[in-house]
Amino acid sequence: MNIILLGPPGAGKGTQAQRLVDERDMVQLSTGDMLREARTSGTEMGQKVAAIMDAGELVTDEIVIGLIEEKLQSANGGGFIFDGFPRTLAQADALDALLEKNGQSLDAAIELRVDDEALVHRIVNRAKEAAAAGKPVRADDNEESLKIRLMEYYKKTSPLIGYYYAKRQHHGIDGLAEIEAVAGELKKTLDSL
Ligand code: AMP
Repeated sequence: MNIILLGPPGAGKGTQAQRLVDERDMVQLSTGDMLREARTSGTEMGQKVAAIMDAGELVTDEIVIGLIEEKLQSANGGGFIFDGFPRTLAQADALDALLEKNGQSLDAAIELRVDDEALVHRIVNRAKEAAAAGKPVRADDNEESLKIRLMEYYKKTSPLIGYYYAKRQHHGIDGLAEIEAVAGELKKTLDSL
């Protein structure tokens, strides 16, 4: 089963993806993680995207599509969870084409719905908790970048909700509930596919 987790920054996509990896042997493909890795290892691409990411803007479609294409070749156990990808309509089209090329298809795009105030709260808390635990704080987890990230989400990513709705692949769940409750809803959705 191949699914997309859709939703604004801070909606809990990464947290839920991690649970699916543990419970269903699925493979998480997070373009955000891949880009952060490229930065840490200091690749040319990593250096190129650093400032864009810190500002909260989207990197080019070409870069993230390339990253996903590479990973789609790998074994995928119980299927792929696309986390933070696609974020534009061009990426969504590219994903369809890449999956088809590999004889695969998408089963669902599951939207984690949350409201904006709760998001800002979550992200600012995520930064505070990381700092308190002595963990690195994401450079884009501050209110300034967050505003841009949210704007990018509404301008470029939220049209995907309509796109997948029209393709009859959209499912919405309440992302504001407790982690366990969201996981339960997600499980129900996956079991219904
Ligand atoms: P994330 O960890 O998903 O919040 O991603 C962190 C940052 O990486 C984003 O704010 C973008 O700058 C970049 N990024 C991650 N995924 C994508 C994508 N699919 N398209 C464009 N930029 C992305």
